[in-house]
Amino acid sequence: MNAEHGVPPPQAGDGTRAVRAGLPEPVKYEPTLPGPVFAAHFHLPGEPTGPYTYGRDQNPTWTLLERAIGELEAPGEPVETVTFASGMAAISAVLFSQLKAGDAVVLPDDGYQALPLVRERLETYGVEVRTAPTGGDAQLSVLEGARLLWIETPSNPGLDVCDVRRLAKAAHVAGALVAVDNTLATPLGQRPLDLGADFSVASDTKGMTGHGDLLLGHVTCRDPRLAAGVRNWRKVVGAIPGPMEAWLAHRSLATLQLRADRQCANALALAEALSGRGEVTGLRYPGLPTDPSHKIASLQMRRFGCVVSFVLPDRGHAERFLGGLRLVDDATSFGGVRSTAERRGRWGGDAVPEGFIRLSAGAEDADDLVADVLRALDGAGR
Ligand SMILES: *Cc1c(COP(=O)(O)O)cnc(C)c1O
Repeated sequence: MNAEHGVPPPQAGDGTRAVRAGLPEPVKYEPTLPGPVFAAHFHLPGEPTGPYTYGRDQNPTWTLLERAIGELEAPGEPVETVTFASGMAAISAVLFSQLKAGDAVVLPDDGYQALPLVRERLETYGVEVRTAPTGGDAQLSVLEGARLLWIETPSNPGLDVCDVRRLAKAAHVAGALVAVDNTLATPLGQRPLDLGADFSVASDTKGMTGHGDLLLGHVTCRDPRLAAGVRNWRKVVGAIPGPMEAWLAHRSLATLQLRADRQCANALALAEALSGRGEVTGLRYPGLPTDPSHKIASLQMRRFGCVVSFVLPDRGHAERFLGGLRLVDDATSFGGVRSTAERRGRWGGDAVPEGFIRLSAGAEDADDLVADVLRALDGAGR
């Protein structure tokens, strides 16, 4: 018998771990997953010590969610997780808690579209920002003297992959901390801490929670001092998750393995179908054996994610394709149970061709999804 009821052994599978992640010890007449705790303050006679004092510092609903995420990020290991109001809040917490004027930081030049906004802010505060592409481990060439290396793999939206172990090792030799934006992969796709990162960071708005109905982010680290810096930043800026969002997220984690497996299988089916089309160029999916990133991805990823990207001949072609889809919503974001696609160039932030499409595979039946996409492609070519 287990020492602790309900805690899966470290060798348990992802599904077993996901359905039980972060659950409290069973208490007679209490629910399996306690509901959200709405509290700005807690009864606190006497000395103002924790765990629960004021709602900007801690909340029991966060505690359970943070434990759950930690169990997925590093099964069986003591790690600390800090949840945030959004992915950007989590990203900012790492960068702004760790960097000070005079430090150098290495960012990807093909990462999430809000990174250039962060860059501007960091430079205003006197931080030197260097960038290099994700592909080819190009960030290695600008590591010298850096305080922190920021990795995003697979990158969004280009889906390039870098070798996290290799980059983390080189960064540590150079005296830099390493953070990985793991949004696209989720901890079931890739475990950055196992690959050598100091911070695993994610927008849980996407595949982690998977229903397109909330924004959330998290940071997980092994080193309690690093976690303390990130937690202090959350308190200072107040970028805290709402209890309802935190509870919805925890509830959603139970199906993470089911969703991830289904969505990855659908993404692969779509990538295979798209690879046979003459009007499609620049097709990328790390799970496709012919993808330039497949070899490295296979060494560090356990699932290849739900996002496929490709290029149609021009803007009009891409717009006709999106307009012809019936089962795929024209919407931004990714990772949800309902498939979405968009012409990424409409935002103006990414260096992508006008016909570039980012498609996020949902949990529909693969045959239906593939048929819908092929039909829309047929209708889009005049
Ligand atoms: C969406 C996204 C973010 C930002 O997350 P929000 O929850 O929207 O703040 C950061 N990184 C990546 C890779 C993303 O896809």
